[in-house]
Amino acid sequence: MLLLTPGPTPIPERVQKALLRPMRGHLDPEVLAVNRAIQERLRTLFGAPDGALLAALAGSGSLGMEAGLANLDAGPVLVLVNGAFSARMAEMARLHGLDPTVLEFPPGEPVDPERVARALKAKPYRMVAMVHGETSTGVLNPAEAVGALAKEAGALFYLDAVTTLGMLPFSMEAMGVDYAFTGSQKCLSAPPGLAPIAASPEARKAFRAKRGWYLDLERVAEHWERGGYHHTTPVLLHFALLEALDLALEEGIPARAKRAQETYAWLLGELSARGFRPYPKGSPLPTVLVVRPPEGVEADRLVKALYGEGVAVAGGIGPTRGQVLRLGLMGEGARRPPYEAFLKALDRVLALA
Ligand SMILES: *Cc1c(COP(=O)(O)O)cnc(C)c1O
Repeated sequence: MLLLTPGPTPIPERVQKALLRPMRGHLDPEVLAVNRAIQERLRTLFGAPDGALLAALAGSGSLGMEAGLANLDAGPVLVLVNGAFSARMAEMARLHGLDPTVLEFPPGEPVDPERVARALKAKPYRMVAMVHGETSTGVLNPAEAVGALAKEAGALFYLDAVTTLGMLPFSMEAMGVDYAFTGSQKCLSAPPGLAPIAASPEARKAFRAKRGWYLDLERVAEHWERGGYHHTTPVLLHFALLEALDLALEEGIPARAKRAQETYAWLLGELSARGFRPYPKGSPLPTVLVVRPPEGVEADRLVKALYGEGVAVAGGIGPTRGQVLRLGLMGEGARRPPYEAFLKALDRVLALA
């Protein structure tokens, strides 16, 4: 099966092999050294400030999302919604009592910093929350501009980095980000199961008194910063994540970004020639190509037919449900040969449609 979904992404052999290492204890000094190496790589990729908490939580990207909202005493929060994942963020903020105000933008369009500036003038907020790259619509949001506005308003800036960290330029310091997270199975091309997170010193100061137990980031810090016991971590996934982080840093973010952008442009050209149209109306996200199928072709039937040809791609979710194909160009997904095979399968399927 050719895996071309916007997460999970294919795993390089070096990462896959790390899963075969013999089992070790979660407090084994060598495992703690692996954790420190993970933190060091994450510090670089997140562009995290000194004193930031860096960890890989045992769960998927959504755990990284929820952990931030469960720990931060940061309501009322302004949640910028332009797709399914930002809507999930708003739902979680409500569940964790952060009194969210949702500022909505049309799906397929990026967040408009002018509207954010107006909202921040109209009412005081303690945090602004946004998704950097919306996987449901394929749109990249202006993190730097929104981060600057949040800082100006004295608010924390919470950013979902799931479709960008490890593939596109990212810097908490430059973007004014206080809390960010990703999932190991997206741009890093590691197996699912870990959620790398980073919390700035300002975010750490804003942790609330009651923050659950498993989700408590100070208990997480006890393990990740001082090597104490919190819970039994998935050490084989830690081994694999470290390999994936090393691969990303060896290649370098500029080269990875270029690989995504070039694959995106070429693939969009190929699809446009077949009658597909891009879903985003502006600011396309280079790591997730979202396209509407040609007139008369039903998106979800196309997804099923491609699966029958051995190619796994995703259909729409949230605002794009039933309307689009979503193609992953994250990590190992951003390569031409697998998409050449995808196009061959697509041509077979379209000839039968
Ligand atoms: C995939 C994704 C998540 C997290 O999803 P999980 O399935 O929990 O890993 C969050 N935000 C965005 C933008 C995503 O693409």
